[in-house]
Amino acid sequence: MNDKGNDRPPRSRRTATKLVTAGRDPRSQYGFVNPPVYHASTVLYPNAEDFLAHRARYQYGRRGTPTTEALELALAELEGPQCAGVSLLPSGLAAISAALLSVVRAGDHVLITDSAYGPTRNFCGQILSRLGVTSSFYDPGIGGGIAELMQPNTRAVYLESPGSLSFEMQDVAAIAKAAHAKGALVLMDNTWATPLFFRPLDHGVDLVIQAGTKYIGGHSDIMLGTVSANAATVAELKNTVRLTGLCEGPDDVYLALRGLRTLGVRLDRHYQSSIAVARWLEGRPEVLRMLHPALPSHPGHALWKRDFTGASGLFSMVLKPVPKQAYHAFVDTLELFGIGASWGGYESLAIPFDCTPLRTATRWEPGGPTVRFHIGLEAVEDLIADLERGFAALAAAT
Ligand SMILES: *Cc1c(COP(=O)(O)O)cnc(C)c1O
Repeated sequence: MNDKGNDRPPRSRRTATKLVTAGRDPRSQYGFVNPPVYHASTVLYPNAEDFLAHRARYQYGRRGTPTTEALELALAELEGPQCAGVSLLPSGLAAISAALLSVVRAGDHVLITDSAYGPTRNFCGQILSRLGVTSSFYDPGIGGGIAELMQPNTRAVYLESPGSLSFEMQDVAAIAKAAHAKGALVLMDNTWATPLFFRPLDHGVDLVIQAGTKYIGGHSDIMLGTVSANAATVAELKNTVRLTGLCEGPDDVYLALRGLRTLGVRLDRHYQSSIAVARWLEGRPEVLRMLHPALPSHPGHALWKRDFTGASGLFSMVLKPVPKQAYHAFVDTLELFGIGASWGGYESLAIPFDCTPLRTATRWEPGGPTVRFHIGLEAVEDLIADLERGFAALAAAT
């Protein structure tokens, strides 16, 4: 039922509208607009027989509540018609590990993009390896050439586009097609784009991971992971999450639902501001090149334009070579850009980074020191003025 008590609308509504309506049923909660936060472990049953038969709409706090269900339904609607179910996990990394564990068994092999989020590599190298699952890494630009790396036991191909820190774009459809042709499943970390700018399930991906910690939460105050599955993978995903006991706390689920309602307007602003700041940086004499897929100068720009409907606030910059103290002076001088891990909140961030230890299939040779930016919701003019101060400090320290 919707707010007026009519039947639920078809899934054809536009995304901006879905962000407002999805996962809400005010009629079932005394008319209140937002779903209540169920703090729950025990669920009481009316009698012994129902208890023994597990006959109840909700059985136990860990197995789901009306609060967790509201977020799962809302996310499923945003992922599109291929989505058969969503699971909530206590962090983005937990979503990555749960998704991988749901598809592999001893003796399998997985192919991971060399541009993957660092902890994804560690999970494969230190946990999957212990369970008898081997992993190898591939050049993110490989496209359909992934076919040549597929082994008879390759069970899964893992993508992340654009890549963490380095922003290489991947040809998702070509990789998915080649992987499926050899009987493998396809997983993708879609944290950068969110389903608002790219819906991987529409492009052949079987399991989509998001760090809800980032844009869904949007306020740097929660940890959350989500995995969205298609019909081929949903049963094993749900089973794995259930058997491992992974679940997300009700307050963070509520904050994620609250963040979701404004995701569209926030992302539009992150998109506009990130393009404006990246273009300005690209024109600076201190900058060697920008790593931002929405700029025409980016090697993956054509893929971004073909597949994505927007860009988020996260990108990187390569400076022309300068001494370390000048590089650090640039970052340290910024006042509006915090130095810290994570991103996707309302505030801007700038961190120094080096991908060298994260590469095995490709070489990281950017040509100069690198900075990753998250562009928050501040006024672009103020951010640019702050960056000008950073460049002045860089020049003074050179
Ligand atoms: C932050 C991040 C994660 C991990 O999310 P957590 O909630 O911090 O565990 C996974 N993938 C990408 C691309 C990220 O940026």
